[in-house]
Amino acid sequence: MFAVADDGGAICKDCCESERESIGTTTGRDGWCVTALATNWEDDSLFCSHCSNRIESAYAEDKVPTYVVNLLRFDQPAEKVETGLTLSKAKAMCNDPETSSETCTDPGMFAKWGPGPWFMAFTEE
Ligand SMILES: [Zn+2]
Repeated sequence: MFAVADDGGAICKDCCESERESIGTTTGRDGWCVTALATNWEDDSLFCSHCSNRIESAYAEDKVPTYVVNLLRFDQPAEKVETGLTLSKAKAMCNDPETSSETCTDPGMFAKWGPGPWFMAFTEE
């Protein structure tokens, strides 16, 4: 989130806080006349016109990978079980004994996935 001044400049969140007084008492021509609040969705080169810091974007920062857990059987194509997982969640899921036919004790899993062998493995999405 950042503020848009009437001169078209962008003002970052930090400057909005530190310059709250300037914004509040703007003369309308000093660059502190805020006309809108906006979200920087995906511009990774948007800079604050006051402090010149880069204004974080909602999506351009979003480089954290997510993982998909697939059920693998030797005789069939991989089947997606769960998507959009963090690495730790994907790992935890695949480390669960119930997600491998060798260690699974839940009859429901065998009913769903067959007698085996099968197991779950994750990959980056
Ligand atoms: Zn700033």
